[in-house]
Amino acid sequence: MQRDQSFLEELAEVKAANKQDFALYCKKTMDITLNPDSIFDFQAKRMHEYKRQLLNALHIVHLMHEIWEGASIHPHTFFFAGKAAPGYAIAKEIISFISALGEYIEKDELLSKTLKVVFLPNYRVSLAEQIMPAAEVSQQISLAGTEASGTGNMKFSMNGALTVGTLDGANIEIRDAVGAENFFLFGLKTPEVEAFKQSGYEALAYYHNDARIQRVINFVQYSDLGTGLPGRYKALAELLLRHGDQYFLLADLADYIRVMQDIEHSYQDPQLWNQMSAANIAGMAFSLQMRRSRTMPGRFGGSKR
Ligand SMILES: *Cc1c(COP(=O)(O)O)cnc(C)c1O
Repeated sequence: MQRDQSFLEELAEVKAANKQDFALYCKKTMDITLNPDSIFDFQAKRMHEYKRQLLNALHIVHLMHEIWEGASIHPHTFFFAGKAAPGYAIAKEIISFISALGEYIEKDELLSKTLKVVFLPNYRVSLAEQIMPAAEVSQQISLAGTEASGTGNMKFSMNGALTVGTLDGANIEIRDAVGAENFFLFGLKTPEVEAFKQSGYEALAYYHNDARIQRVINFVQYSDLGTGLPGRYKALAELLLRHGDQYFLLADLADYIRVMQDIEHSYQDPQLWNQMSAANIAGMAFSLQMRRSRTMPGRFGGSKR
């Protein structure tokens, strides 16, 4: 395929300007200072265990340990946005954990050079309108077989964000529309999840067999995360180790670490990244046009009969 260099450069300029706008918006409305040169990575959706915001947070804990051990990574801002239902205690605990993680990183001189975690409160359509144009990475990491559809994933992709996602819900359609090579796939497939449920799933085995997973879970279990209370978030670790890890976070964590490394490598190659971003925008536009012409013949570029 012929690549239009100047088009890709223009696309990159638009995305960079949108990131600047979003940084300004965050400064003005929340007094949050962002690094517009960092990767803008979003998980924006209602807080729910099946959507696995905690998996995203566990990966951030993994990155913290990698950096402490001397790894150098591209500056990366992880945004979370989403409300929890009033009576949903675990979802609220996950919000608290993510916020504490953000503050902890902020106070660590080494970590705060490359990492930032931001929990954006009060996720609503007007905030989504600010987020989507500025997004570069879209986290669509629900356990395969749990998401009925999803629409946030489509909003991100058509705005040129690259999806890291499981084969779940509308991720499947998006991957078909934009091309498998322009989508960062990871994780168990629905039949594999079903097989685990039949044969019995042992989360503890992943903890014992992977030193990286052990390190992450131990941190969640024992750290005070700056609260002065060691083990403040122990209950979240126990959800995984002792209460069955209902949404298979530990089974998917190693592959998630792998795909996030892929993201990081691809981002180092702006030419490749911009091509993939353009393929997302174009692929989504084309597939939506096809859908409209099927459902409303004659109105939106469909056959005029
Ligand atoms: C799009 C949207 C959602 C739905 O997000 P999913 O990722 O599909 O769950 C929820 N809330 C707001 C404000 C949205 O704009």
